[in-house]
Amino acid sequence: MTQRKKGSLDVLVPRGLVGSGEAVLSASAKEDGLCALRISWESGQISGLEAIKKEDASSLKLLLPRLLEPHAHIDKAFSWNDFPNFKGSYEDALKANLQEHKNRTSQIVFGRADRSLTIAVKNGCRAIRSHIDSFGYFADPIWEALLELRKKWHALIELQLVALAPLEYWNTREGDLLASRLGREGGLLGGVLAPPFNRELSSDLLAQMLKLANQYNCGIDLHIDESDTEPAVGLNQLVQVLDHNEVNVSITCSHASSMGLLSPVDLRRLSERLAHHHVNVIALPLTNFWLLGRQSKTTPLLRPLAPISQLQKAGVRVAIGGDNVQDSWFPAGTFDPLALMSFSMPLTQLAPWQRRGLAPFTTSAAAVMDLKWDGIVRIGSPADFVLLEASSWSEALSKPPQRKVLINGNWLDETIIPKTNPIEHLN
Ligand SMILES: [Zn+2]
Repeated sequence: MTQRKKGSLDVLVPRGLVGSGEAVLSASAKEDGLCALRISWESGQISGLEAIKKEDASSLKLLLPRLLEPHAHIDKAFSWNDFPNFKGSYEDALKANLQEHKNRTSQIVFGRADRSLTIAVKNGCRAIRSHIDSFGYFADPIWEALLELRKKWHALIELQLVALAPLEYWNTREGDLLASRLGREGGLLGGVLAPPFNRELSSDLLAQMLKLANQYNCGIDLHIDESDTEPAVGLNQLVQVLDHNEVNVSITCSHASSMGLLSPVDLRRLSERLAHHHVNVIALPLTNFWLLGRQSKTTPLLRPLAPISQLQKAGVRVAIGGDNVQDSWFPAGTFDPLALMSFSMPLTQLAPWQRRGLAPFTTSAAAVMDLKWDGIVRIGSPADFVLLEASSWSEALSKPPQRKVLINGNWLDETIIPKTNPIEHLN
């Protein structure tokens, strides 16, 4: 890989993503939160940051740290055509998913995952966390294939893998073996906790899962309370288990949708308990709005979604993810965090020119994913950017903009990524 020694760009950068520094303090941010900067890099790292006069900033393009996808399912992406779900319900999605299991092979899953990463890298992602259906006869060969895939792509994108299995699975010998493997390979334990609940059993199973995660030092990322009934029962069970079990791994709750249906008092109490236990939340507005609150021939008015702002206020780290892409759970999606930001705006009323609106896609997502780089642009941080063909947030979010991707100081050549080994094709 040839490393360009030096480079520099005059760009607009969200002020909240710029580390403090004398030169940057003099940069005035406009109401849209963007400030004009000259960013220089050398040997793959930022070597200089300099404020640019406001009057010179009108033609500058928007630059972001490379993007993140904290919650995906690359093992089933693009399977909609073969396993569609025209009714659009959660139950029918699950049925189609189980049908798909009967046909999956490691080659098929490798192909879907490889395609997912190709698109994600072109869109400017630097890390993606994907849940992988990990039970049954296909689990082992698929893990082999995906670990191979992770190696293939590691210079361009960090792939985090979560083993998605029924909670009961983590109480079996196979589950123990898989957890020990995840510990060695840097994977996470996953599972689903949603209605109908068997409260006593699921508390025991959660405790067992936490024990396993501690033993093998694996993080946990649960699909929890992805429902429009029995508000936050799963989350309440989790915090009760956490009250009685010491945990030294990171815990993330994906969805937490029905929590949004709690009364304000209960919601605040639970948010505080989640913050107390350092539990992260990943909100997934697209699949929640598509699957939940469905009633035949009725426009839904009940919109279960993680209460993002209330959680942030209580001190919980919240990221926003895309979830499914073109499978039985969601027919659309593109592995494009900018498109997700745009679609999420009317659903969450979060705007990227506000710190708490941008963080779920950038710094908070990096923290939830426990990434080495927090995504703050400062001297010494990686020259890892997405340069958008847009001069304002409005332009960037009106349609997914053209973009150029800079990885460790090298511009990505998109035309040759999908062939053979992408690492050799940076120029
Ligand atoms: Zn999911």
